[in-house]
Amino acid sequence: MPTDNIEEIKSKVDVVDLVQEYIQIKPAGTNNFKANCPFHHEKTPSFMVSRDKQIWHCFGCGEGGDIFSFVMKMEGLEFPEALRVLAKKAGVELQYRDPALNNQKTKLQDICRYAAEFYHKILIDHPKAQPVRDYLKKRQVKDDTVETWMIGFAPDAWETLHDFLIKKGFAEEDIFLAGLTVKKERGSGYYDRFRNRLVFPVRDPHGTIVGFGGRWLGPEKAEAAKYVNSPQTLIYDKSYILYGYDLAKQAIKQEKLAVVVEGYMDCIASHQAGVENVVASSGTALTLGQVKLIKRMTTNVAFAFDQDIAGDTASRRGIEVAWQEEMNTKVIRIAGAKDPDELVKKGAELWRQAITGAQSVMDYYFTSVLGKVNLKKVEDKKSAAKTLLGVIAKLADRIEQTHYLQKLSTALNVPEDVLRDTLNKVKVRPGASAAELPPSAQLRDRFTTIGESLVGMAMQFPSLLPKIVDQLPLEYLTDVKLQNLYKRLIVFYTEKQTFDYETFVKALPEEDKNSLTYAEILSLRATHDFPDPDPDVLDVEVRIGIRELKKRHVQAELKSIERSMRQAESKGDTVEAEAQGHKFSELASELQRLEE
Ligand SMILES: [Zn+2]
Repeated sequence: MPTDNIEEIKSKVDVVDLVQEYIQIKPAGTNNFKANCPFHHEKTPSFMVSRDKQIWHCFGCGEGGDIFSFVMKMEGLEFPEALRVLAKKAGVELQYRDPALNNQKTKLQDICRYAAEFYHKILIDHPKAQPVRDYLKKRQVKDDTVETWMIGFAPDAWETLHDFLIKKGFAEEDIFLAGLTVKKERGSGYYDRFRNRLVFPVRDPHGTIVGFGGRWLGPEKAEAAKYVNSPQTLIYDKSYILYGYDLAKQAIKQEKLAVVVEGYMDCIASHQAGVENVVASSGTALTLGQVKLIKRMTTNVAFAFDQDIAGDTASRRGIEVAWQEEMNTKVIRIAGAKDPDELVKKGAELWRQAITGAQSVMDYYFTSVLGKVNLKKVEDKKSAAKTLLGVIAKLADRIEQTHYLQKLSTALNVPEDVLRDTLNKVKVRPGASAAELPPSAQLRDRFTTIGESLVGMAMQFPSLLPKIVDQLPLEYLTDVKLQNLYKRLIVFYTEKQTFDYETFVKALPEEDKNSLTYAEILSLRATHDFPDPDPDVLDVEVRIGIRELKKRHVQAELKSIERSMRQAESKGDTVEAEAQGHKFSELASELQRLEE
């Protein structure tokens, strides 16, 4: 039964371990952890994960939930896909009979898996694949490497894969949507996209195959591109996938460094040589999504591009994206070989040394740009300044910026403030503007937040309960959900004359799931706000909080009295108007006292 599956998965996947695979978290009290929220831009952590409660919540943007909602939100998945991801993690066999647990995306994933197995099997034992096996041997690709990366061979034919998948029961249209076939230009029908190619399955961060890259194996000819890749599909979002990431992520975390190479073979050769913190960008500029994948594991990234980066706009753009995310970026120089694959073959040690010797991108730019100009010529000086200032402007860190301005000033023999003037003209400031914040963070009612904080404190630090219950009447809270929870809290406490959180939560009625989740979130919030609670601090917080809510309550009262007063006046009811006026002035002076 699917619900059993879900419960089983929940019991096997710990929310803290799960979140840790995506973002870096720090302990905050017993069994709680905090982090900068992955769902909104922030500098101080308001994202909390609780091991006891098995929930996560952000007090900045209000997002929160369990392991399923975390994976869905983090990866942009629908429930059925998130279920697969977590089932795999939990080692739980899913019961697929329930159609609700399959969707279009999981169907395309199945098609890709069958296709990969098909290509792989052909490479392993089909007689026609002998030249391909020879080719791999020549390139020193070992058998278990072929296995690990599920490398395959697409035979030189038009419909082999298509027919195989149809026999497996998949619809023609779905095979096309998985990116494996191409529509015939004339007539109807489809033909295989990959023909006579070495095929590299591309996997998402969980190891699910979502697309393919195919390297041409025949003689060089104009109509056959060296590489053919799957198109963007429902499951293959190229800007969120790095080749090899699923196999590299643990090593990246351990080494605290991600190495980005260009080609599939560079990546595979490096892994085979035991250097596993390596992923391939497949030759395009690194996207924000890809940088974020890396950032889950480390903030250090080193690029090994085949070309001179300073002259190559695609690699430069990728580096700038990494900077925006405040990553430490370096460049690996490949000396004496055309690419990492070749360098690894000359000796894994050489490749390791190249990685260790990686230069900071800025130093690399300086060497590269200044190496090409004659600084005695004004024109050269100007162009070098322009190029390098353009890059310095993109640095997110001010201190770093100043450092390189000084360096440039020395190198060009131009005063620093002249350079800084020019810099300010080209400057594009990174970082979040108010418009980028989620609307919930902007619109969040300050008073609801205060009320939530008080109720959370009452549950988390029961010694405060008598005072809160005594001085915070229900009507001071305007949010219905919060009122409802607080009502239950008052009733519970008044009945028992004592309070403990566990019993309270257990006593919440089954049908009131909202209050349960809400209670968990609010008490978690209190532990977040007050990691080591000092009774005096708590006392002050409660007093200020209640006073703020009371002020708001009195102000609202005043408005309503004012309305009644006007109404009475317009009806000519002077007695009533006077009575209201009296009430008004009494309350107004109370408000004044509160504001003192
Ligand atoms: Zn948030």
